[in-house]
Amino acid sequence: MPEIVSDSPRTRVTRRLRRWLAGGIACSLVSFVFAPQALAAKVENLRLWTAPDHTRLVFDLDSAATAKIFSLDNPERLVIDLAGSDVANAAVSRKFEKLNLEGSAVKSIRTGHQGNDLRVVLDLTRKVNPKDFTLAPNAKYGNRLVVDLEFPGESAVENPIDPIEARIREQEQLAAKRKLKGEPVAAAPNIKASTHPKRDIIIAIDPGHGGEDPGASGPGGTKEKDVVLKIGKRLKRMFDAQPGFKAILTRNSDYYIPLRKRTEIAREQKADFFVSIHADAFNSPRPHGSSVFALSSRGATSETARWLAATENRADLIGGVDGNLSLNDKDEMLRGVLLDLTMTATLNDSLAAGSGVLANLGRMNTLHKRRVEQAGFVVLKSPDIPSLLVETGFISNPKEERSLNSAAYQEKLARSIFTGLENHFERNPPPSSLLAWRRDQARGGKGGEYRIKSGDTLSEVAQRHSVSVSALKRANDMSGNTLRVGQVLKIPRG
Ligand SMILES: [Zn+2]
Repeated sequence: MPEIVSDSPRTRVTRRLRRWLAGGIACSLVSFVFAPQALAAKVENLRLWTAPDHTRLVFDLDSAATAKIFSLDNPERLVIDLAGSDVANAAVSRKFEKLNLEGSAVKSIRTGHQGNDLRVVLDLTRKVNPKDFTLAPNAKYGNRLVVDLEFPGESAVENPIDPIEARIREQEQLAAKRKLKGEPVAAAPNIKASTHPKRDIIIAIDPGHGGEDPGASGPGGTKEKDVVLKIGKRLKRMFDAQPGFKAILTRNSDYYIPLRKRTEIAREQKADFFVSIHADAFNSPRPHGSSVFALSSRGATSETARWLAATENRADLIGGVDGNLSLNDKDEMLRGVLLDLTMTATLNDSLAAGSGVLANLGRMNTLHKRRVEQAGFVVLKSPDIPSLLVETGFISNPKEERSLNSAAYQEKLARSIFTGLENHFERNPPPSSLLAWRRDQARGGKGGEYRIKSGDTLSEVAQRHSVSVSALKRANDMSGNTLRVGQVLKIPRG
């Protein structure tokens, strides 16, 4: 047994492990004998990231290794055997013991040996679906073995949206799409004042990067993933405090989400808008200022936009996505999707909202570019959700890095994004939203006209416009209570 088990608690653990292995399960391990030429590796580090629906373990290895992974129940355990491998040194062993396991479904981690293999046993608090894959070295890391513990039945977001509310939004979005394409739309149900859904507008906030993808780093060591999470959380608080809005975060702590999973979360939650928050670096310390990006079908609007999109689109390679998803495939998909009419409408919405956000950012920070830029960001490729990517500032600029670290500055950035989007929805509220209802109320309240729809009653129309039935009848010279569809009533000032 090498030095990693020489300290006494470790030895105890290992002895216990040996005894345990000598028991019933040992026979099931006979098949896991590796060929002598199996790759051997040293484990140099173990990292762990916890998300609401999964935990990711990343073994950093000095060379590629093969692993055998299997579950045991009663109690729940996951066994990871790394062929012909070992832990690099005692410091790494201690790291195994010191990992923060909170919320991870892992109670404790034990290591030992099974023949020539390094055996890692995870004691679990719940049943998990394990998935594993290896990653080749990239700019940030060497060889890695990734083990994802998926929690069956858990949502990827912390407080998922109410399913009934989601259904209302889904139907509304579907109707809008049909209308856009000139397809027949079932007569819109007459929304009466008392039954108006007054739904919340859902904003999906996507703090970029996370977990083993730190994003860009500032000269002072600030990591983009940390700054954008803080800004994202502030932005969520603002929307949640605003009547008529609710926000969800694609990630609420430090873990990685693949680019396409981010938009998938927004779509599952039936979000009305998706905003991705970043603070990138450029290859020189000079560039500074905020910028706002929308998707482009025709290439980038500037050199920086092209450079940033290429950088962002590489995130999956760093963040560790098992995949045969090459960037070229995504670009191909992107071109296809952009032919869709809905996408054009979505893009126009994105650009309109983006101008508002940019204008507000311009009041607190210099702007990198005066208009909403466009480039082929994968994370913006949602055919039916208007989406923006906000570069809050360049973390590579020393002055901007300092600002990005300040709570007051983060709050101002969040406020600018909030105001831009809030104004956009005040101007263009979805029909079933509280904002649309309030706008209609306000129009009525100022006095004006109302066209009777099927299903309206005099008392409801009066109530909706905050006037009495008698005042309404007087203003329209009515004697009875009969209304006909299409009839226009004068609404007296309430
Ligand atoms: Zn970024």
